[in-house]
Amino acid sequence: MSKKIFLSIFLVSTFFLLLSLFVVSGVLYTEFLENEKNYLWSEIKFIKEVLIQNDVAFSKNLKDSSYRLTLISDDGKVLFDSKANVSEMENHSDRHEIQKAKKIGSGESHRYSNTLMEKTIYVATQLPSKTIIRISTSINSIWSMILELIPSFIFIFIFLSIFSGILSHFLSIHIVTPLNNLNLDDPISNKIYDEVSPLLSRIHQQNRKIKQQMTELQQKVDENINAQNVRAEFSANVSHELKTPLQSIIGYTELLENNLVKPEDTSRFISSIKKESQRLVALINDIIHLSQLDENEEVKFEKTNLDEIITETISLLKSSAIKKNITLNFTNISRSPFIYAVPLYVQEIVYNLIDNAIRYNKKNGTVFISLKPGEKGKIVFTVEDTGIGIPQEDQERIFERFYRVDKSHSRETGGTGLGLSIVKHAVQIHKAKLKLFSQVDNGTKISVDFIQ
Ligand code: ADP
Repeated sequence: MSKKIFLSIFLVSTFFLLLSLFVVSGVLYTEFLENEKNYLWSEIKFIKEVLIQNDVAFSKNLKDSSYRLTLISDDGKVLFDSKANVSEMENHSDRHEIQKAKKIGSGESHRYSNTLMEKTIYVATQLPSKTIIRISTSINSIWSMILELIPSFIFIFIFLSIFSGILSHFLSIHIVTPLNNLNLDDPISNKIYDEVSPLLSRIHQQNRKIKQQMTELQQKVDENINAQNVRAEFSANVSHELKTPLQSIIGYTELLENNLVKPEDTSRFISSIKKESQRLVALINDIIHLSQLDENEEVKFEKTNLDEIITETISLLKSSAIKKNITLNFTNISRSPFIYAVPLYVQEIVYNLIDNAIRYNKKNGTVFISLKPGEKGKIVFTVEDTGIGIPQEDQERIFERFYRVDKSHSRETGGTGLGLSIVKHAVQIHKAKLKLFSQVDNGTKISVDFIQ
């Protein structure tokens, strides 16, 4: 860039230098021409004086002077010429300076001389005797004066060119250095040329955009990695969770097959096989539900009756509640039980929460289920139990896939470790809010605020 600036400044200054030399030559030419004319005029005045006082023949002595003298009669006939043969000269009455001298006493002109074959300046004046005297000189003398100046011009030109080259070099460095020192990390902090400001503010905007895009990209990468980790962890957990009941089933059947079970224990073994198979089915069902939720397919929202779903779920879970002598208590004081939702997912929420409240309850406990009006026209579905509760440190994690506070207790009660993660997912799809309150040994209260 500095090379370009240097060349531009240098070429422009050289061009103007040359131009000014031409202009100066022109001015000098006009000046010299004027000088020459003035000189001729003063000479002709002098000659006129001499001629008036003396004889015309005096003029013939002027043959060797630096200018040419011509005497012309009133009718244009050339009487005498100091540089040419009079007999060969034509009538001069049509010459501009002669006509002027006849008309107003004196005249001047410059043109190409047919007699001397060169550009000439003429001045003419008329004597009282009507004879016209004319003196002239060649313009070539002016050009030769200018030519004499040319070596000086060349010297001046070379000197000024070198000078302008050095100046251009320093100027280009002076212009480019601030640009090279720009702080592009913070472009608007630079205070250099006004012309560069729009560019700097654009770089600033671009920087901000790039930073923003980088952050978004990083977030996406993080989310992706996170999702990949979750998936990998989930697959590992799934295979482990599936293998455990299958291995138990295989173990029990092998013992039975090889008659290694006492006849009185056979029914216990068979019911264990049934229990493990049921767990397997429950696990597969939960995995299917979760993957359906994960697929994020277009789900159909429709008018859903919460009261109806709760009542149906209670009747489904009644037998397991009775086994532990647990009372299921449902109250509905909502203004309307209807929400706009995906019925299947609402069933998942209601079933898993009531199922957990029974499974993690104590014997003879109670499960309070309610539907109440919430803030901002919401409806709150709450399941509260008098069970074992969840320790504070586990409360955040119980919504993770396969996370259980007490693995053996969950397994014993037929849990899969997926119920609450299905609940969390289904709640998110409905843009509802999930709240958990739990105290170890006192019980757990989980509520969902549905938008109505
Ligand atoms: P699980 O099939 O094991 O019940 P969930 O995802 O439904 O899996 O629940 C995760 C864990 O949260 C359970 O293993 C249990 O430890 C704890 N939990 C869930 N609900 C309750 C509750 N009502 N009372 C006490 N602990 C609970």
